Amino acid sequence: MTRLGSGGRIEVICGCMYSGKTEELIRRLNHVQIARQRLQAFTPRRDTRYAVGNLVSHNGVRIEAQPIDSITEIRDYLRDDVQVVALDELHFLDDSADTIVETCQALADRGLRVIIAGLDQDYRAAPFPAMSRLLAVAEQADKLFAICVRCGAYATRSQRMIDGKPAPFDAPTIVVGGLELYEARCRACFEAG
Ligand SMILES: [Zn+2]
Repeated sequence: MTRLGSGGRIEVICGCMYSGKTEELIRRLNHVQIARQRLQAFTPRRDTRYAVGNLVSHNGVRIEAQPIDSITEIRDYLRDDVQVVALDELHFLDDSADTIVETCQALADRGLRVIIAGLDQDYRAAPFPAMSRLLAVAEQADKLFAICVRCGAYATRSQRMIDGKPAPFDAPTIVVGGLELYEARCRACFEAG
């Protein structure tokens, strides 16, 4: 495990919807707090599913987080003594992949532990460019899975549903939603639009 003073690093937690990314992020941040390391967490302002300004797991564990519109705002909010920076729901940021990767690299180069969570693929099963590149440069990458609602296999895809049917692929990429909008599906059960 990462120890205090061990230097900067990037950790990526990725996977499809319902794969437990936020739970895993909160689990790591809980350890950070127990270790009395100084932490700042951030969340995209577009993620309106839960209380703005908090990371909230499905079982109600809550960690205070600063809402941001751009990843570049992290540098504005950063305290001098912070040791760990966390960002949930990376895919909700509109920043370019260049901006996201450069910002994370700069933070890690300063000696910070940077933990990023987010979807690896959109609802078309196409990789998010920023996440793809972060996976390549990260010191640690964890890809989580959900359970396919159709067959019970390990799910790696997020099927977008509209009125109970798979959504066509020409619809907008990002819709903030919950159970009524996405299903976790395996490769075999995922339906291309
Ligand atoms: Zn399946």
